[in-house]
Amino acid sequence: MTNTIATEFEVLDERFAGLGGDNRTEVLYVGTRWAEGPVYFPAGRFLVWSDIPNDRMLRWDETTGAVGTFRQPAGYTNGNTRDAQGRLVSCEQGDRRVSRTEHDGSITVIASHWQGKRLNSPNDVVVKSDGSIWFTDPPYGITSDYEGHRAEQEIDGCHVYRVDPVSGEVDIVADDFIRPNGLAFSLDEKQLYVVDSRRNHLRVFDVDDDGKLSGGKVLAENKTGNFDGIRLDLSGRIWAAAGDGVHCLDPDGTLLSKLKLPEVTSNLVFGGPKRNRLFVTASSSLYSLFLNVTGA
Ligand code: MG
Repeated sequence: MTNTIATEFEVLDERFAGLGGDNRTEVLYVGTRWAEGPVYFPAGRFLVWSDIPNDRMLRWDETTGAVGTFRQPAGYTNGNTRDAQGRLVSCEQGDRRVSRTEHDGSITVIASHWQGKRLNSPNDVVVKSDGSIWFTDPPYGITSDYEGHRAEQEIDGCHVYRVDPVSGEVDIVADDFIRPNGLAFSLDEKQLYVVDSRRNHLRVFDVDDDGKLSGGKVLAENKTGNFDGIRLDLSGRIWAAAGDGVHCLDPDGTLLSKLKLPEVTSNLVFGGPKRNRLFVTASSSLYSLFLNVTGA
């Protein structure tokens, strides 16, 4: 039987009314050192996530509740996502690359260098509908051996990158971050939200048709912990792993509610056949609850 804890929403704005969900939150797994990168696969009804310090990826089966090792070693994988073809795209921060797992199980390297220099340690990734792959590159996988391999930084700075879907070229699209981290597109893909986990804020950029960014104003600041992974729901609200739990932000940046959790949160994803089930990676555990919202 699955363990549960009481669900605790701290509602801060009336616009959140009716959006909560289960009054018990399920604890689907306990035993990671630092859980990250949840990604849900509707075709197989399973979720894959990362346990970075243990250099492994785990797989939770929605049909049985069983958890097994998906991959180990796993390049100290951090963030994961799914592309339009349903393939796993991963930030291997230990191997300092972004990779794709093909349908036959083989691994294709998407990005490992910029202008001949090794990336720092890709952290989180999103795929746009045109097939371009966007990722962030802070140094967490090279500053110690705990979450990767200690190494020198070759690129001056920690940037946001775009991989062209046709040429495969890797370009910097934002170079004024200290620690770029979670990222997500707006529903119409005309805006890109990016977290800076050192400055502890969330910025919003305009995306033009050539894949260039402009703007970049600070949309929200987090006073209680670190912003990390982010995802959107179908109403454009931003759900952000935020240290003390998961913050739900209106598209205008207003903090609507906090889902409080007993461990430091890192990332989240909407899943289940109706995309109304929220999965949260938080330190040692994987949590889940059904909400009255639908993931984008
Ligand atoms: Mg992250």
